[in-house]
Amino acid sequence: MSERTRIVLKSGKDQSLRRYHPWVFSGAIKKIYGPAREGILVDIYDNKDEFLASGHYQDGSIAVRVLSFHKLDLNQEFWDERVGNAWKLRQNLGLLPSAQTNVFRWINAEGDGLPGLIVDYYGGVAVVQMHSIGMYQNLGAIVQSLKKVAGEQVHTIYNKSDSSLPDKPGISNRSGFLLGNLEKGEVLENGYRFNVNWVQGQKTGFFIDQRENRKLVGEWSRDRKVLNMFGYTGGFSVYGLGGGAKVVHSVDSSGKAIDLTREHMEMNFPNDPRHEAFAEDAFRYLNEMQESYDLIILDPPAFAKHQNVLNNALQGYKRLNQKAFEKIASGGLLFTFSCSQAVSRENFRKSVFVAAANARRKVRILYQLSQPPDHPVSIFHLEGEYLKGLVMEVE
Ligand code: SAH
Repeated sequence: MSERTRIVLKSGKDQSLRRYHPWVFSGAIKKIYGPAREGILVDIYDNKDEFLASGHYQDGSIAVRVLSFHKLDLNQEFWDERVGNAWKLRQNLGLLPSAQTNVFRWINAEGDGLPGLIVDYYGGVAVVQMHSIGMYQNLGAIVQSLKKVAGEQVHTIYNKSDSSLPDKPGISNRSGFLLGNLEKGEVLENGYRFNVNWVQGQKTGFFIDQRENRKLVGEWSRDRKVLNMFGYTGGFSVYGLGGGAKVVHSVDSSGKAIDLTREHMEMNFPNDPRHEAFAEDAFRYLNEMQESYDLIILDPPAFAKHQNVLNNALQGYKRLNQKAFEKIASGGLLFTFSCSQAVSRENFRKSVFVAAANARRKVRILYQLSQPPDHPVSIFHLEGEYLKGLVMEVE
């Protein structure tokens, strides 16, 4: 038997693991036998000594991130298999190869059986973002697998874990190139062109998770006046214009985001006078705007990063959506999103419902949106379903 560290859970605290939830919270632990070094592989047992799972240990509220419900050897084959399965799914989804789209999420943490690891793919470039020390300790093996699985289809690997890894002693080299040295490049999404800078951009460079929802905006934009709030790279704006909008206005508080939006508009629709971009606060813009839009997109940053600020976040969604309901033209469509993991679909819909009632508008839900299938969600880990959207018709 291995000399591996054993973690024994308190009585009754084994239930969530028996339902294959992939996290062990520190409060569930009765005793740790053996060294409890950050990032090591540990075995978890119930208080009657029955084996439950193996996973990465970390000092913090989530103490173990489960990698397997069978006893596991963390060897190269393990990484090859998980990374390879993730690649196969993207092939099955038609994302690889695709003449229209070469940007997708290759590895989606728990959704691909690799909690703590995100890998996004930008036309030959893999951007790795680690959220746990366990993944950090195995970076070498993970990179081997990425190269082996993708072969010539990956020429650059960039580690972007500056802001995602927790602050712990001994964790250095959080970011940097692991293969090649290309800092930015042009990608294709549903046939539209975007410049992505994975070194300097937000997250891994681009909000890949809105791909299908952007397409839907395109389909509804014909002859409409479109307002894209919190636009960042202007993704929704590009699809709006491509879909035949009369006018598209993009708003973001960041000047850099507005520059990027203008660049993308120019790349896809040179000299098109239908688009304008404004560097302004969203709430202020909505308060002061004189125009009447008949398609509004609200895609704000996560209002709640943690459970304890949940109420403020729900208030934020209510305020924002209420403003949009008050101002949107009759017969207009509101596309509204929440990417806060701490906000459930139910709570988000409630906030939007209160906003509609306060604004005294008659509102029908046409679509309930989520993240695309290259961001799969383990049915045992519903926290993984972080992107929620509603498309509503406002009478
Ligand atoms: N819709 C985008 C992603 C939005 S990310 C896409 O499809 O890619 C959130 C954006 O909101 C960021 O670009 C950030 O600069 C912007 N932002 C944050 N707070 C804001 C505010 N108060 N007003 C306007 N923009 C804001």
